[in-house]
Amino acid sequence: MSHVIEEKLIFEKDHPGRTGASLPACDVPKADPASLLGPLARREAPALLPELSEVDVVRHFTRLSTYNYAVDMGLYPLGSCTMKYNPKINEEVARLEGFARLHPMQPESLTQGALEVMATLQRHLCAVSGMDACTLQPSAGAQGEFTGIQLIRACLEDKGDARRIMLIPDSAHGTNPASAHFAGYEVEEIKSGADGCVDLAALSARMRPDVAGIMLTVPNTLGIFEKNIAEICRLLHANGSLVYVDGANLNALMGITRPGDWGADVMHINLHKTFSTPHGGGGPGAGPVACKAHLEPFLPKPVLVQREGRYAWDHDRPKSIGKVQAFYGNFLILVRALAYIETLGGEGLKRASELAVLNANYLRAQLQPLLKLGFDGPTLHEVVFCDKELPNGVTTLDLAKRLIDYGFHPPTVYFPLIVHGALMIEPTETEPMEELDRFVEAVRAILEEARDRPDLVKSAPHTAYRRRLDEVAAARNPRLTYKP
Ligand SMILES: *Cc1c(COP(=O)(O)O)cnc(C)c1O
Repeated sequence: MSHVIEEKLIFEKDHPGRTGASLPACDVPKADPASLLGPLARREAPALLPELSEVDVVRHFTRLSTYNYAVDMGLYPLGSCTMKYNPKINEEVARLEGFARLHPMQPESLTQGALEVMATLQRHLCAVSGMDACTLQPSAGAQGEFTGIQLIRACLEDKGDARRIMLIPDSAHGTNPASAHFAGYEVEEIKSGADGCVDLAALSARMRPDVAGIMLTVPNTLGIFEKNIAEICRLLHANGSLVYVDGANLNALMGITRPGDWGADVMHINLHKTFSTPHGGGGPGAGPVACKAHLEPFLPKPVLVQREGRYAWDHDRPKSIGKVQAFYGNFLILVRALAYIETLGGEGLKRASELAVLNANYLRAQLQPLLKLGFDGPTLHEVVFCDKELPNGVTTLDLAKRLIDYGFHPPTVYFPLIVHGALMIEPTETEPMEELDRFVEAVRAILEEARDRPDLVKSAPHTAYRRRLDEVAAARNPRLTYKP
């Protein structure tokens, strides 16, 4: 970027008297607004809206759009986030009038098609996960976790066996302990073994009557498949405990293996990661929860059922944990997911997972001579490097920032916490080999710079719209409103 236009806020571009519309002269006699609206409904002063022409507005937003990086521009290897390319056809489908203009208060008799979309998606998600029942209500992975953990809690309490401990490995996504805590559990951390997996002996030693369950991410945030998962499920079940699988990484498993078959009792699925919804900046998303039959009575209500060939909402669910979301979930995300699944089919989903794993392992093989792995074990859809071999005091953050100058979104950094200076890379299945090669060449070039001209790397990015932001101040003291 040779010359960046420093775009002002749209309010600061206000030009009184300018307009973006040309309307014919009004031929209705002007009435006094005071006589039409009561004083309660009237503003005391005009709204502070900027006055701009059409071209002002178009340029404003077009310029802003160029300051952003998007998966439509190139590789977006943000580990754990599955920033894959989402086919535009799914967007088209979600914008069809019958879906987009549907109102959640419309009666069942007028929404049979929408209910069929939801029922079909539930069936597909159960088929992919090996589960028996599903709720589409949660609108994020974290909310799915919270819902799933509440199912465990409700099930145990129903048996008169309330327990207080949830076991969670140290490699878990931060939302796992947060969700367990919110659901009323005390979290106990399990240390990962040298292979990045759960240490079975250590886990056996933890089995006590107050353990409600375990939350496991499979494959975990190191990209490593939990090889003892079936044994872990047996161990927990023998202890009367339940197994929650964080299914945010389902992208690595579709059509290959299923949590339900390992013995997992309940899991969430991130539709916005695995099943196509552009996400970032905090939304939108959907985190359906799939479970085994013994947890089905506790699912959030209402539950979608079929009566005499028609779809209906069943509110009569005495054991339900209640609602977790207004209405029925993030409906248009569900539409995108169904469009994606139906387009690919079972074989296509399997191929997507195989390519996700292949792409990650290609990057792993190409980058291994340059960077040091966090853990040595075989990895699936993502790979984590550490900062051990970075020269001249160059940090993971410096490398990530310099990647911006080479036209990439940086990978996830400093997560998972168990890898020093972690650089977590997830290319996803939609990247062509040339783009992966371009990334490898960028890392190679940056490491050369780090050896010869470390200051160049330490002060990156040089070509971005903004240099280094004060992230702590941004998080602690956000200014989100415009004050004239
Ligand atoms: C993304 C992710 C989550 C949380 O999902 P959100 O939709 O961001 O709430 C949980 N666990 C893992 C492993 C994830 O990658």
